[in-house]
Amino acid sequence: MADTPHPTYSADIAIIGGGIAGLWLLNRLASRGYNAVVLEKTALGSHQTVASQGMIHGGIKYTLGGALTGASEAIAEMPDHWRACLRGEGDVDLRGARVLSEHFYLWSSAGLGSRMGTFFASKATRGRVDRVKSADLPAVLRDPAFRGSVYKLVDMVVDTPSLIRALAANYPERLFRMDWQGANWQRDDDGGVALTLTGEDGRPFDLQAGAFVFAAGEGNEALLREVGCPAPAMQRRPLQQAMVRHRSEHRFYGHCLGTEATPRLTISSHPLADGSQVWYLGGTLAEKGVDMSADQLIAAARRELADLLPWLDLGSDAEWAALPVTRAEPRQRNFARPDEAFAKWAAGVDNVIAAWPTKLTLTPNLADRVEKLLRERRLEPSLAPAPALPLARPEPAATPWAKAFGVADAPA
Ligand SMILES: Cc1cc2nc3c(=O)[nH]c(=O)nc-3n(C[C@H](O)[C@H](O)[C@H](O)COP(=O)(O)OP(=O)(O)OC[C@H]3O[C@@H](n4cnc5c(N)ncnc54)[C@H](O)[C@@H]3O)c2cc1C
Repeated sequence: MADTPHPTYSADIAIIGGGIAGLWLLNRLASRGYNAVVLEKTALGSHQTVASQGMIHGGIKYTLGGALTGASEAIAEMPDHWRACLRGEGDVDLRGARVLSEHFYLWSSAGLGSRMGTFFASKATRGRVDRVKSADLPAVLRDPAFRGSVYKLVDMVVDTPSLIRALAANYPERLFRMDWQGANWQRDDDGGVALTLTGEDGRPFDLQAGAFVFAAGEGNEALLREVGCPAPAMQRRPLQQAMVRHRSEHRFYGHCLGTEATPRLTISSHPLADGSQVWYLGGTLAEKGVDMSADQLIAAARRELADLLPWLDLGSDAEWAALPVTRAEPRQRNFARPDEAFAKWAAGVDNVIAAWPTKLTLTPNLADRVEKLLRERRLEPSLAPAPALPLARPEPAATPWAKAFGVADAPA
């Protein structure tokens, strides 16, 4: 019996991966008139996005070792860009997303204050950092034993579950959950690729696209291999974050500066539906904690809190957990931290773009870069409706702390 041809659907742009990168890009491209869709393999925001600390920062923390570079100037605009989106006045409508904190603090333990003061008085950081007077200290640092100095950054913190839901809610009909078990890539005659998928009804169909944008975070590496692209290459930055669930009243968002150029400890606070909260602990602790067991990391995190905030009492019912998680980035010389978003046409295939935002903060920058690549190839918006693929809808991912402690996130 002759094979019946598969039904074929077409999109201007098919985005693979529904984290912050894929969802922001979908919103940006759809608003421009592109017929764009997102294909997600599990849940939206699954890997890095819901595990991030939610800081939308202007790059100050990367300047602690010295002066601002050109690249860190690009990041400096990001908090204002996000704030416009949160007001509904930006390129993407984020009015449904919640801001957890309008500020991020930077504090030094005693002894390092003068180094910070000299740097923050410099021209490089003017207008982006304010010294906090003792009367205005955040409650958790308002203790007679506190000796350090505190600065308030223009940075803010977004609640990533509400961010994912807000972006998804703007274009729900363009989000699809795909199963790679029933999917494979086909090479077409023009040097591009198309995707054959299996629909909810068990029947195969083809998806063609002017461009496939790989926005799958760590998943990009396997995707690029599957379509036969030798470049761009990816690097992984493994971390192990600590989480503590407690009922103290302190909501705190801050970096503690130690002797190194990166923050010694970064604390962000995430409210849960039962009124408790999670302090999520990153920074050097999470970088050095990669090779520790969960128990060793938790012990190290407790020591850091006891050393930096000795007066703090999180209560005897505080519960602890550890989270190994990996950041995915485009490969850099000497494993440097990229400080710009990355998007490039993949080598060897005509219609694939590989994209890593490298930071939540830089996602608008990623969308600019992808749009520029599309324009350079004259891939214009078709203004056609998005294809109604025969696939299920993906759900938003649960946060790692909701999973670890079995309590839902507080509703936005
Ligand atoms: C612990 C931690 C803290 C961080 N804190 C901050 C911060 O405070 N501020 C900041 O700016 N940045 C922060 N980051 C970085 C930031 O989280 C990431 O840069 C950003 O979330 C990456 O988004 P993404 O969409 O590229 O990837 P992800 O969020 O990893 O999303 C990828 C998506 O693609 C899907 N996927 C994977 N493979 C496939 C496939 N084959 N097919 C279909 N779908 C696929 C996944 O299921 C997932 O939904 C942090 C990162 C970590 C790990």
